[in-house]
Amino acid sequence: MAYHWQSRNKKSSGVEDMVLLVKIQESSIVENLKKRYMDDYIFTYIGPVLISVNPFKQMPYFTDREVEIYQGAAAYENPPHIYALSDDMYRNMLIENESQCVIISGESGAGKTVAAKFIMGYIAKVSGGGQDVQRVKEVILESNPLLEAFGNAKTVRNNNSSRFGKYVEIQFTRGGEPRGGKINQFLLEKSRVVSQNEGERSFHIFYQLISGADDDMREGLGVANVDYYWYLNQTGTYTVDGIDDKKEFQDTLHAMEVMGIVGDRQGDVFNIVAGIMHLGNISFTEKGNYAVPEDDGFLQFPAYLLGVEPAALQEKLTGRIMDSKWGGKTESIRVQLNVEQACYTRDALSKTLYSRLFDWLVKMVNTAMKKDGLDINIGVLDIYGFEIFMKNGFEQFCINFVNEKLQQIFIELTLKAEQEEYVSEGIKWTPIDYFNNKIVCELVESKRPPGIMSILDDICFQMHGQSEGADIKLVEKLGGEPLPGKEYYVGFSGGFTIQHYAGKVTYDCNGFCEKNRDVLFKDCIELMQASQNQFIRSLFPDDISPDKKTRPTTAGSKIKTQANDLVGRLMKCTPHYIRCIKPNETKKPHDWEEDRVRHQVEYLGLKENIRVRRAGYAFRREFAKFLRRYALLTPETYPRWTGPVQDGIRHLMMSVNMEPDQWQLGKTKVFIKSPESLFLLEELRERK
Ligand code: ATP
Ligand code: MG
Repeated sequence: MAYHWQSRNKKSSGVEDMVLLVKIQESSIVENLKKRYMDDYIFTYIGPVLISVNPFKQMPYFTDREVEIYQGAAAYENPPHIYALSDDMYRNMLIENESQCVIISGESGAGKTVAAKFIMGYIAKVSGGGQDVQRVKEVILESNPLLEAFGNAKTVRNNNSSRFGKYVEIQFTRGGEPRGGKINQFLLEKSRVVSQNEGERSFHIFYQLISGADDDMREGLGVANVDYYWYLNQTGTYTVDGIDDKKEFQDTLHAMEVMGIVGDRQGDVFNIVAGIMHLGNISFTEKGNYAVPEDDGFLQFPAYLLGVEPAALQEKLTGRIMDSKWGGKTESIRVQLNVEQACYTRDALSKTLYSRLFDWLVKMVNTAMKKDGLDINIGVLDIYGFEIFMKNGFEQFCINFVNEKLQQIFIELTLKAEQEEYVSEGIKWTPIDYFNNKIVCELVESKRPPGIMSILDDICFQMHGQSEGADIKLVEKLGGEPLPGKEYYVGFSGGFTIQHYAGKVTYDCNGFCEKNRDVLFKDCIELMQASQNQFIRSLFPDDISPDKKTRPTTAGSKIKTQANDLVGRLMKCTPHYIRCIKPNETKKPHDWEEDRVRHQVEYLGLKENIRVRRAGYAFRREFAKFLRRYALLTPETYPRWTGPVQDGIRHLMMSVNMEPDQWQLGKTKVFIKSPESLFLLEELRERK
């Protein structure tokens, strides 16, 4: 099992590009990946698509030496590597002057976030630049520890699981210097702030603060042992293998400094983090059917940290102003809440505080990266993967929908678009069958006929203010509707099952309406707007005037809009793909669970991907662009070919003795069959 990296002449393992597999079957793909994985080659290609199998150990091939080797090298010169893909994106952007994006997909713990960091690190290394540029690079790289501290958590699947999705755009000058950037954030799983599943933790920052705060902070923020806090002690999971919270706290502080979050501002942030921990400790008991705090003492500290009076906090957590109609007039009355409702209100306040803090952090990163209106960029998408749990709720429904959309782009761009292009360009070609998941996206997001999200919104709107009844009504309504893609849907009392591209998922509708409405009661907003703390006030710019008539935005419609915006952005770029595979559930190196891998190979559509790739042409370029790039290979074409462009290309291909079966002219583009043929042209060009 010798590991050779240095030279291409030495032994490799399996097939590096699975387009070259002898048999295109799932079993051969799995076998090839296994062979390579066991020999410590985690990367394999399918044409331009990179497959990455999580090694669960540090591999030796991510040093400066590899950065050097992969820079400007042709893909076939070196073993498959994420640096090769990164380099390809970067060069492509410069040569074509086109934005690039990379879509990293795979399930939780498959290695998406690690891959995203390798790409950003590589690009930071190879792109030059003076002081300004160094600063942009630092901000981009440091945004990772910052957002991971606040947005990642230990889950059963992954000790550092991203509980939000992000699309990071690095903006470049035409000379290839990074000058700015932008982060779009999706779907922070804020429910984790108030409760977690067995064996999981809340967001890292809470544990970091508790183990890393200095004495002043401890005192000022009332930091106690971690098991003191209800929001953190419900699962009894406090530490994580391989994570040193104390050390990471220092990294977080450093990252905050890089973003310009220093001094009082830093204090403001931890005020909220600690404020939330203390809020969770306010418990309620029943007194004559109504909730009252079990112990008034527990109101003091959160009230102090949030800059409000304890009495005001109590009032807003245990009561609510409701509008009621009396003979055509609307009157406000105060209703008292029961224990369950009071806990719900407390948790809603905590979740909102946390998610608004997170949004603010992202905004700070964006401000620090300062966009200069540059028009070419490299985008890296790392969004959390498809999820199937024992119990799946609204969060999983949204996450899986976004993943379904990403799979759709993959299909649109690699399978469908590729085939359609052959047809429209008049290229000879045998079509390949594949499953198009568009219909499953429709099932969720269609407006007309209404899909699940539209129906959910309607129910939420109609049954304003009711929760349990609304969920039941939702299931009933869904059962009676002619949903688009109904064959991928099975309803039952309490929920429904969707046949996603990656498998069947059963969703429990309990809580769907409430989570979709996602409202923080006006009372809590008022409370925060009245805070003594200016920073907290700034997080609540909400307009809560009573005459606002517009239908409120729901969580579902927000995610739908975000997903479609994202698709729009991605579609404007030249796409690249990394498909991450998780080889086991043990998180151990060299542990290969055949069935798990086979399942992922199936739903990632790798077989179809290889088929399409193999039957097709690896490269295509518009006539004029192609001729311009290779003009210098013949004296007749350089500096300019005077005749029709197609004739120029024919002349060029004949002069370099390109095999006739290796290329075809379409209507607007020239198609080149194998990567080797393109490399040949590139090499000739280099020699000139
Ligand atoms: P999630 O969807 O839960 O965020 P993910 O796909 O982003 O999951 P990562 O956090 O990137 O998964 O990877 C999980 C863990 O696997 C990492 O913390 C690391 O320990 C290990 N890992 C992943 N990729 C690599 C790699 N290339 N080399 C070494 N270890 C890796
Ligand atoms: Mg991740």
